[in-house]
Amino acid sequence: MSRTRVLVLNSGSSSLKYQLLDMRDSRRLAVGLVERIGEQTPRLKHTCVTSGDTREQNGPIADHDAALKAVAEELARDGVGLDSPKLAAIGHRVVHGGLFFTEPTVVDDDVLTEIERLVPVAPLHNPANLTGIRTAMALRPDLPQVAVFDTAFHTTMPESAARYAIDPKLADRFRIRRYGFHGTSHAYVSRETAKLLGRTPEDVNVIVLHLGNGASASAVRGGKCVDTSMGLTPLEGLVMGTRSGDLDPAVIFHLQRVGGMSMDEIDTLLNKGSGLFGLCGDNDMREIRRRIDEGDAQAELAFDIYIHRLKKYIGAYYAVLGWVDAVVFTAGVGENASAVREAAVAGLEGLGLAVDGELNAVRCDRPRLVSPADARVAVAVVPTDEELEIATQTYALVGKNG
Ligand code: AMP
Repeated sequence: MSRTRVLVLNSGSSSLKYQLLDMRDSRRLAVGLVERIGEQTPRLKHTCVTSGDTREQNGPIADHDAALKAVAEELARDGVGLDSPKLAAIGHRVVHGGLFFTEPTVVDDDVLTEIERLVPVAPLHNPANLTGIRTAMALRPDLPQVAVFDTAFHTTMPESAARYAIDPKLADRFRIRRYGFHGTSHAYVSRETAKLLGRTPEDVNVIVLHLGNGASASAVRGGKCVDTSMGLTPLEGLVMGTRSGDLDPAVIFHLQRVGGMSMDEIDTLLNKGSGLFGLCGDNDMREIRRRIDEGDAQAELAFDIYIHRLKKYIGAYYAVLGWVDAVVFTAGVGENASAVREAAVAGLEGLGLAVDGELNAVRCDRPRLVSPADARVAVAVVPTDEELEIATQTYALVGKNG
């Protein structure tokens, strides 16, 4: 029997997101989420895509092992259990692959050790990703486990874009450089944009704006990333839901020396209490737009700061690429917030950028152009699909042996 299914796992510190796909036609068979693992009120929400059934479990889920076992039971109830001979592999999202992992990789002990070594540069994410991998390995030791890294797509960045202007010896010793994140999304969306334009990825230059709760921009030349806005960690770059993005590093010294804050407090402030949320108390763009419509000046200023930064990155990546075929919006805000798309390119007609009001207002979940037909540079909306990209990369690596 041919092995055509891939289970994708995205393991967070207290959550486990999963999707089971059939790679013959990239069809989803089941999707779900386990939340609040190890907490008082865990929840598993499972949807069998084929039947449309959704089920919820609220029993105790003490750890990731229990979470994956509960997921396995739900999949078995739908007749697509993890013991099926059709399962080809499990694909894992791993946030930080450093410079070492430039490709999806079948996990073995050496790979686990290397992911572990990267924990100091991804303390929030890599430990949770490792837990997910180890749990899945214990459940199906015979099955290939593939790690797909958020950083891999950005490893093509030239040194001039990847290095900070600090002593290279010091930087190398502590692995300090710009790695970039959301790579599976940037890879998928830049490829789909080329398809939308009827061209090959090698033939186009694209600026990808991944605007979700986390947000990042990338400059992609001929299918390869040449710059991206996140850095050593996901804190650098655009204004995000709760992250500050770019700021003068001296703000940190100032908050410590003058504000009396500890490093941990500053870390939490900049990662969890800043960005749109820090500016106006809301990080959901829908709520911010609603408040602006009601005349709320604080929400309007937060929006303006968000757009100003976004526009600066569009301009910067235009200059990095020299020639741009498309600017593409993706993720929760990019796909849904027409006001953000309109404001981000407003006034950039000199760069050949504009949106068509009617096209931009259309709501649809397929890739589409929102620029006028005669625009020099296409402006597009391309829904991202990180799980499909992880499954595709996983299957490409192991499926051929199925
Ligand atoms: P993501 O991280 O890609 O799931 O994006 C989540 C964010 O997308 C939310 O925090 C909202 O700010 C934004 N979002 C989702 N739906 C909409 C919508 N219909 N209009 C505007 N923003 C939205």
